[in-house]
Amino acid sequence: MNLELSIEFFPPQTTEGIEKLREARERLAVLKPAFFSVTYGAGGSTQERTLATVSEIAAAGHVAAPHLSCIGATQASIRDLLALFRARGIRRIVALRGDLPSGMADPGEFRYANELVAFIRQETGDAFHLDVAAYPEWHPQAKTPRDDLLNFKRKVDAGANAAITQYFYNIDAFESFVADTRALGVTAPIIPGIMPIASFSKLARFSDACGAEIPRWMRKQFESFGDDTASVQAFGLDVVTDLCQQLINRGVPGLHFYSMNQSRLTLEICRRLGIG
Ligand code: FAD
Repeated sequence: MNLELSIEFFPPQTTEGIEKLREARERLAVLKPAFFSVTYGAGGSTQERTLATVSEIAAAGHVAAPHLSCIGATQASIRDLLALFRARGIRRIVALRGDLPSGMADPGEFRYANELVAFIRQETGDAFHLDVAAYPEWHPQAKTPRDDLLNFKRKVDAGANAAITQYFYNIDAFESFVADTRALGVTAPIIPGIMPIASFSKLARFSDACGAEIPRWMRKQFESFGDDTASVQAFGLDVVTDLCQQLINRGVPGLHFYSMNQSRLTLEICRRLGIG
């Protein structure tokens, strides 16, 4: 099976968080992921911590990919950061627009992720492998699905190598998105983003904000478990493992796990799938 795994972390804030992430990363390393990625706070708010986290991952011998969002940034600030990444041996970036943090009025010198991708290519040629974001259930701000699709294509045409999707639980949405992009001539790999389910209330909040749908049949089941975390997680493991298996059966090139800095659920899903 030629399946590339990748695992996403967020940069921890405390010494305890740093230690916990180190432990989670060491456990997840048995899956031999192609890379670990580290998110980047809105408006560059985690720049130092993202850099410190990817540097530590790279120093431990893994491929580390910082996320980099451009909203609120200037060309000069992105240029400096690209130089820092190169100096630290970083060769892969998840290139994003991001969202302007509340209270920050100046959108900076980039409007959309395609402009960031074009800028990175212009400044650094092929020094970085660039991943961009994709939305099988459409980005919440997209005017129409067609607009979103064409905007996605713009990022690939600007030089992105691959895409990682927002998480989803409707496999039809993913399949239809991939088919639509192929019809437009996009050949870049599209890697499904997988969100293991630790807590339904958190997932529901998050999904509302990012525009991912929790199907009614799942929502009803989760709601029936109330505060019974063990049942929520057991059902979540069944649902997400089944989704991954269906994606693998359809020949996806990889799975990108939103680990939330935890190892247990991702490891259990992979164990059930017989991978890693
Ligand atoms: P874009 O691709 O620029 O799209 C944003 C919106 O603008 C879409 O509605 C699109 O249709 C529209 N659009 C795009 N280009 C154009 C154009 N040229 N003209 C007109 N309209 C256009 N957020 C973070 O803050 N930090 C992270 O680390 C982070 N990591 C993520 C990782 C993944 C895999 C994903 C899927 C999302 C991540 N996000 C992260 C969330 C992301 O920043 C938000 O979804 C953000 O609102 C959009 O970023 P984007 O790069 O997809 O933007």
